[in-house]
Amino acid sequence: MNNPCIRCGKQRIDGKSWKEKLGTSVITHTQTVCPDSECQKIVDKATADRIAKNDLMIKTKAEAKLAREKLLAAS
Ligand SMILES: [Zn+2]
Repeated sequence: MNNPCIRCGKQRIDGKSWKEKLGTSVITHTQTVCPDSECQKIVDKATADRIAKNDLMIKTKAEAKLAREKLLAAS
């Protein structure tokens, strides 16, 4: 299985795995991590930043929508 690290290109290794119940079946998730722990930290941070930015964008959009609706209701 080819699963290179997005940052350094090293083959990613299995990190933690956990089981999740989906209906009647149990599926096992395995998180892959970069063998270079420093690199993995940077990747983790970049992922967290991306998620935070995305959350902020969704929130900003929702607030803009609400403001627009308020404006429409007032007119
Ligand atoms: Zn890496």
